[in-house]
Amino acid sequence: MSAPHCSPPPADLPPDDVFREIFLRLPPDPSFLFSASLVCRRWRRLIRSPAFLHRFRAFHRTPPVLGFFQNLWTLPTGRRIRFVPTTGPATRISLPPGFPDWVLDCCHGRVLLYSYSDRELLVWDPMTGDKHYVGAPPDLVGEDVAAALVCAADHVDHTDCHSSPFQIIFLDCREDDQYWVCACVYSSETEVWGSCAAITIPSLVSSDSSALVGNSVYWKIIFAEEDSNHILEFELRSQRLGLIELPEGIRENYMSDIHIMPAEDGSIGFAGVSYSSIHFWSRRIDSEGVAGWALLRIIDMDKLTLSSMPAGDMFLWSSVVAFARDSDDLFLQAEGGIFMIKIRSMQLRKVREASGSAIYPYASFYTRGCDIVGIDDIDD
Ligand SMILES: [Zn+2]
Repeated sequence: MSAPHCSPPPADLPPDDVFREIFLRLPPDPSFLFSASLVCRRWRRLIRSPAFLHRFRAFHRTPPVLGFFQNLWTLPTGRRIRFVPTTGPATRISLPPGFPDWVLDCCHGRVLLYSYSDRELLVWDPMTGDKHYVGAPPDLVGEDVAAALVCAADHVDHTDCHSSPFQIIFLDCREDDQYWVCACVYSSETEVWGSCAAITIPSLVSSDSSALVGNSVYWKIIFAEEDSNHILEFELRSQRLGLIELPEGIRENYMSDIHIMPAEDGSIGFAGVSYSSIHFWSRRIDSEGVAGWALLRIIDMDKLTLSSMPAGDMFLWSSVVAFARDSDDLFLQAEGGIFMIKIRSMQLRKVREASGSAIYPYASFYTRGCDIVGIDDIDD
């Protein structure tokens, strides 16, 4: 593609600083900067400047959700991963060659992958291309695994964590005459695994998602038996595992299909669909230190609109399948497709036809080093 060539700017055109201020206020969706960069060389030079991109990240603070990863199992290829962009065709993420297995988590612009065949983990940054290979913990069984990637940077601003230290909390779930889980933590600073903590659990741990709240990471326990009505907690400082009982009625009200996520009040919570409503719960501790669950918010899906039209029957058989931890984007899988809902503004968008696979939202400012991906590919 050829970018239009601008004539030398007339003397009465606004100075560069005026354009920069305008570009700064474009939405963080990469298609806006990408489109502006196609207008002429002058705009392209201003937009691709490292100083401008740094200001752009600082101005917007919350990285946009660029899309999501999904794990697929198909014959004859077996396990593979796909990336589904949610911000238009300008977003291109190619998976690292030779490591096709499985996505376990995304955090602050990085992706955690696991190779079942090699028993190896990879922390991959799609924006910088950085790869950090980590051998799986010793004594691993590795048939049912789950993991969380946690940014260990000691700062508040997580918009540019590409070289920050991280931790992997790896769960190895085993089944003999009972279920049990072993948790082990890897630190990129020491480059070693810590010792293992283990407890028995009522059922296997769901690898679909984890939620970091405060100093703990939480996973859903797969509902199988009557007593599997729990979530798993791993406390990072003490490195202890524990079980938290969910409120009664999960099976009846939500068909046992809930999604663990941070609650709006800062506690651990979950979301579940009951008929045409999304219910948001929070685990609160009262003034006497007693913990309990509270229904915090209800979204009536009948009031959601898609292109000004009621969403209607598209939400049949829906369930909450993901929540982007750094934004407020909730992913809903329904008969009519996969939808993104901004839970503060209630904006609704359809992003794909329905698919049964788990969703791992990926959020980052769309940069590679200092350049916007794609701009380098434009011919002068
Ligand atoms: Zn971070």
